[in-house]
Amino acid sequence: MLDGIRDAVKKFLTGNASYDVAVEEFIKELQKSLISSDVQVKLVLSLTNKIKERLKKETPPSNLERREWFIKVVYDELSALFGGDKEPEVNPKSNPWVIMLVGVQGTGKTTTAGKLAYFYKRRGYKVALVGADVYRPAALEQLRQIGKQINVPVYGEPDSSDAVGISERGVAKFLSERYELIIIDTAGRHGYGEESKLLDEMKEIYEKVKPNEVVLVIDASLGQKAFDLAKKFHEASNVGSIIITKMDGTAKGGGALSAVAATGARIKFIGLGEKIDELEVFNPRRFVARILG
Ligand code: GDP
Repeated sequence: MLDGIRDAVKKFLTGNASYDVAVEEFIKELQKSLISSDVQVKLVLSLTNKIKERLKKETPPSNLERREWFIKVVYDELSALFGGDKEPEVNPKSNPWVIMLVGVQGTGKTTTAGKLAYFYKRRGYKVALVGADVYRPAALEQLRQIGKQINVPVYGEPDSSDAVGISERGVAKFLSERYELIIIDTAGRHGYGEESKLLDEMKEIYEKVKPNEVVLVIDASLGQKAFDLAKKFHEASNVGSIIITKMDGTAKGGGALSAVAATGARIKFIGLGEKIDELEVFNPRRFVARILG
């Protein structure tokens, strides 16, 4: 997939072709690799146009070889798409703070709910979980076990299929008990099997509960589908940030770029395994280094 890029960088830095020809060749290679890594074509073109623009307008600083400077421009522009040099601010902007997790089944939403609870608990917040995935029978039990493991209370109604009501009641209960960070785990597949029903449910929870932050959880291997999926969730519930799971696998996460483009949201965390502490604050430069090879 993106393995070609590392070779292309090497070829670009050491090759004999003239600078202009080498730039053209490199950009073609970059486009090809990003597209085959599931980044949307439109996004790839706007990125490479931006790179070309900078090449025309700017002159390299005197301490850098022209070719090295070019690679830096590529790196900068890719990183900028993910938020540049800075790691995202992950501390809640106000207290209390309600997070609603959305995403399709199997992406790791429930696992991530637990990881987030653990992350914020360690930062000193009084954290609680609400289990509103009423369509996957084991979801609530899974969440309860995680809650037990990290000593965080979990609200759920095992016999109810009223996801909206559960969310409302769970959040109200924990707010009244002065919890500072409340995380709602929602369904990833609707009982009736229809995607539109799931999105309607997300919309209703969003409108009734009014969470402070909607977090879209996506799987690193999601690929081309990431754009449309992210867009649909965004339309239903105004996605404010993104978590990419399964970054410990072989997928490079190119689809994440598309999810960012579809929502305008920032990636805040990445999941690096099944365990409760395998969650990391997202680092744009490290991620780009991974995408580039
Ligand atoms: P949900 O349907 O979205 O709630 O998904 P789950 O939380 O049940 O996770 C589905 C599967 O993915 C489980 O086997 C998890 O252990 C696994 N999983 C979740 N996050 C990660 C991750 O970051 N890395 C790996 N390797 N597996 C993960």
